[in-house]
Amino acid sequence: MNASPFLDVVGVNKHFGPLHVLKDCSFSVDKGQTVVLIGPSGSGKSTLLRCLNLLEPSDAGAIRFEGRDIAQDLKNAHLLRAKIGMVFQNFELFQHLNAVENIMLAPMKVLGLSKLDAHDLAVDLLKKVHIPDRADHLPDELSGGQQQRVAIARALAMKPKLMLYDEPTSALDPEMIREVLDVMAELSADGMTTVCVTHEMGFARRAADRIIFMEQGSIIENATSDVFFSGAASERARQFLNQILH
Ligand code: ADP
Ligand code: MG
Repeated sequence: MNASPFLDVVGVNKHFGPLHVLKDCSFSVDKGQTVVLIGPSGSGKSTLLRCLNLLEPSDAGAIRFEGRDIAQDLKNAHLLRAKIGMVFQNFELFQHLNAVENIMLAPMKVLGLSKLDAHDLAVDLLKKVHIPDRADHLPDELSGGQQQRVAIARALAMKPKLMLYDEPTSALDPEMIREVLDVMAELSADGMTTVCVTHEMGFARRAADRIIFMEQGSIIENATSDVFFSGAASERARQFLNQILH
């Protein structure tokens, strides 16, 4: 039996010049788990996510993914990113391509799917994110919530083994937040391994197995969702939770 975690982050450090932005960060994620990462602005959440898929190189530490340390394997970063989907606050869709074309691009280029197969896949994925009727709309003809769901579908098209979300609903109007969180929660319930930075504590309660709280580059708290929300979190984490809830 293979007991090692699916994703195992061990003592990761990162500096930007003199700024020490990740300090000995360690945590692990089992296959199928959903982890929500919270913390004040500037605490290093985005940097940590970006280190996980090698958008940022880390200075020291190990990142074991599927049992292999990928932390310094920058020349194979493109192969890794094919297995790790990432969704950003501002959607980052290709503005000149419609929804279905945004989703088709990477499977054709990277996985070598035919245009027909990529199209079928994209149509299926638009169903999965509940906008089957938006296939030929350009990004600026879609609402923010719809654009973010296209971005999720585009990430899923690569059949990722891990999904990373960086504040995926922070740029959305309140009425659109729910539709995006619902899709994320469905994927999570279907067994997608997920690490998500979000301030949406309703989503965290609903979907997260664990909550990680960061402050000034350090992981201060790493607790099961039950423990975290039952008030057993550290004083500092509880203070933060109170701030974002009120
Ligand atoms: P969070 O996502 O928690 O708000 P970030 O990971 O974006 O935090 O930032 C952590 C710290 O690193 C902040 O002090 C930020 O200013 C700094 N930082 C982030 N990216 C860079 C960069 N490319 N160059 C220099 N400093 C950066
Ligand atoms: Mg951030």
